[in-house]
This record gives sequence, C-alpha cells and structure tokens, in this order.
Amino acid sequence: MLESLIQLLQGAKHIEVFTGAGVSTLSGIRDFRGTGGFYTAAWHGLSVEDLLSLHVFRDDPSLFYGWAREFLYRLKDFKPSIVHTTLAKMEQNGLIRGVYTQNIDQLHQKGGCKHVWEIHGSPESHTCLSCKAKSSYDDVVGDVMANKVPLCKTCGGVLKPDIVFYGEQLEGKLLDRAYRDMASADVIMILGSSLTVQPAASLPMATYYHGGKIVIVNSQETPLDKYAKVRLYDLQETFAVLNSWLDQRNPGI
Ligand SMILES: [Zn+2]
Repeated sequence: MLESLIQLLQGAKHIEVFTGAGVSTLSGIRDFRGTGGFYTAAWHGLSVEDLLSLHVFRDDPSLFYGWAREFLYRLKDFKPSIVHTTLAKMEQNGLIRGVYTQNIDQLHQKGGCKHVWEIHGSPESHTCLSCKAKSSYDDVVGDVMANKVPLCKTCGGVLKPDIVFYGEQLEGKLLDRAYRDMASADVIMILGSSLTVQPAASLPMATYYHGGKIVIVNSQETPLDKYAKVRLYDLQETFAVLNSWLDQRNPGI
C-alpha cells in the first residue's frame, strides 16, 4: 500500500492535502472526535458544542475561556510531528502548494509549512464583539491563563478568537478556493480526518468526480473509504516512509 502511495504521488501533477485533528494527536493534542477527545468530553457539564456555540459565548464567555485554557492557549506546549514536518518538506519540494486544515493549533505553521489554509479559522487573532477591533493571540494569552476574559483595549468589549464557532459560517471565499483546488487535483491526501463533518465530507469528492484519486490516512473508518485509491491507517508509519522517500529524492535537503 505504501508503495502504491509513492507511485501515485510520483505520477501526480497536482496534489492537494487536507488535514484533520488526527494529525495533531501525534503531537499530544487529543483528537476532537476520537475517544477521550475534546468534542466527546464534557467540561463542567457542558458539551463542546455548547462551549463553542456563539450564543453561549455571548451569554458567558468565561465558560469558553475556562475550557480553552487547557488547549487553545497552551499551544506553545505542543510540537509539530513527523506529519507536519514532512508536509513542510513536500511543500519545499514543490510536491504540494500548501495544506488545507480543519485544525486550529498552528502546528502546520510550526512544522514549517508556508501556505496553510485554516478552514475553521485561527486563534492567531481575536475580534472585539463590540467594536470589531483586532487583538493578537499574544495580547490575550496572559489574561486567559490568569483566568480572566480578555477584553478589548479600545472599548472594553469581549474578545473572541477568530475560530469558527457553531452558529457561524465558514469563510466563503476560502471554501470556494478549496473546492476549486480539490476539483483540479490529480490526488487529494486526506490525513487524520474522519470526514464526518462538512466541508471535509464533500471536498474529497470534488477531486473524485473530476477524475482524481483519493488517498486517506486515518486510524478510524471514514464514509469515503470505498472511494479511496489508497487507504492507510497509520499516520506515523506512513509519514516516516514518505520522509525517507523525500530524503532519497533530494539528498542533502
Ligand atoms: Zn472593542
């Protein structure tokens, strides 16, 4: 199977990559939807859907920030894995242009990828709910870790991270771009996503219906497994092999 993956990548002109929470579990971040994941573990009696819903946030932002302190504002504690660094190497080699991700943990950037399209937004910036002024992650992290709701320096309004909450739309232009890129790709590599939520569930089909091939590397089953040309389960093992393959292709890099 790994040999057929390398053959597929070698013969492809245009490879797209789409990543989900599974690529971050190798960095110690609990998979959002897997066993013990952030989405399945309730926090102080609240589900993650509640904690990440816009109306709960507006009612009491301290609930979100209390929960997010354990992960989103400790991002410096997590290091990129071989998946992140190998994808960066593939980008440097011109095999991929960048990575589309559902993740909000910045690990692709830390791993060296220059082009990361974050379809669920990014905590890198925060927006004031009242006056729309922006603040950076570094501006707010101190307050959050000190158990305070970060407030706007201009007007005192509540700051919300620019990640997509339930009740908010994904960014339309970015999604359009993703569909265009997937539709024109020979190969789409789906990594660490269970493909159960939109748009993850439909983006690979854009490649498939235009004659491209689907590669899925994910530890759990996905609804698109039957469409996959190459189906692998172990991300660590797959990327260890891809990493050596890249090193052999380009000795010295
Ligand atoms: Zn403000």
